[in-house]
Amino acid sequence: MRGGNEPHLVTRLILRSHREARLLAGHVWVYRSDVDRLEGRWQADEPVTVCDAGGRTLGRGFYNPRPQIVCRLLTRRDEPVDAAFFRARLEAAWRFRRSLGWDGDAARVVSSEGDGLPGLVVDRYADVLVLQALTLGMDRLAGQLAALAAEVAGARAVYRRVDATAAAIEGFEAPAGWLVGDGPTEVEIREGPCRFRVPLERGQKTGFYLDQRENRAAVAAHAAGRAVLDAFCYTGAFACWALARGAASVLGLEASAEACAQARAHVAAHGDAGRAEILEANAFDALRELQRAGRQFDLVILDPPPFTRRKTAVEAALRGYKEINLRALACLRPGGLLATFSCSHHVSPALFEEVCRAAAADGGRPVRLRATYGQAQDHPVILTIPETRYLKGLLLEVLA
Ligand code: SAH
Repeated sequence: MRGGNEPHLVTRLILRSHREARLLAGHVWVYRSDVDRLEGRWQADEPVTVCDAGGRTLGRGFYNPRPQIVCRLLTRRDEPVDAAFFRARLEAAWRFRRSLGWDGDAARVVSSEGDGLPGLVVDRYADVLVLQALTLGMDRLAGQLAALAAEVAGARAVYRRVDATAAAIEGFEAPAGWLVGDGPTEVEIREGPCRFRVPLERGQKTGFYLDQRENRAAVAAHAAGRAVLDAFCYTGAFACWALARGAASVLGLEASAEACAQARAHVAAHGDAGRAEILEANAFDALRELQRAGRQFDLVILDPPPFTRRKTAVEAALRGYKEINLRALACLRPGGLLATFSCSHHVSPALFEEVCRAAAADGGRPVRLRATYGQAQDHPVILTIPETRYLKGLLLEVLA
């Protein structure tokens, strides 16, 4: 990483005319179709300077000709993108996390575009960081960024996770494993009243759904004395919070056998035996079965995976959301609560609300909107980059 300091070596990415509007509106992505030409030599770990058709500098970022999004601005200034640049960005990200004052020892430290570091994700689990590169440029710098991040956040070790989808789109192959230090690949974290074991090597995302931390606390505040259904429970984080807050019983539904095993261990550590059960099942089938059997709950949590990562599949995703919400509402006693989420950024908060409205109407279950939820604050939303806002939720109370 030389940072592109030497003016005669700087590579320029020139946009076609009138293609600068997105960047001027505060977004950071350059699509291949926006590009007129590349002037100079290109290297994956060297930033290019993005210019409009008239030659005006719009910012700097790594270039990769392979994906649709060929460049994501790291800065809007004509400045070196070097070790000092990344250190300053990491320090700002870490300062922001500390200002949030969360109760626990796990958090997202770097959230890609949300922290002015598009293509880089860093999560903290106790004294270990997990780093994920989502672009070729960040992949090339992973070792250096890991060392910097460990220093800035005072971590003992950094483990690298590889997102297979990003690696295929961006065209890099990288081994998972320790970039700084080493240690066990299962780390215990604390989140409010709960403790969880995070599998760094094989867990989903970087091992844990940190984006739901604030929502787990908010939803569990309603759990005392209630029969709880935690559908799509992964390793049982909502279930454990509900138990810690006095739930009468918890039933978890999860399709992954591995996640079920971890969820069982977690709920066993958070509640008396017999108060919690984890069922390995397709939640669509299980919800249908529970409805057919007339099972009733007082609090249902629906936290499904993104049913669509592509814009074209939104219709099918909406049908999926409607079906599970309809069935969940049918399994609630009057006065019961449904905490329902969508983590697909293609489904806007308004669209998600629309689906839930349709489910309530079709099921003949009038509901009161008790709360709206978003992603935890350590996953910042940049207003001018709508894609940074992806998690949304509603707390609905079934009226008698
Ligand atoms: N609520 C969890 C995160 C859930 S992520 C937490 O707070 O940690 C969504 C989960 O749904 C994943 O664990 C995934 O394995 C599971 N899943 C995906 N499709 C499913 C299906 N059809 N039935 C049940 N679980 C499913």
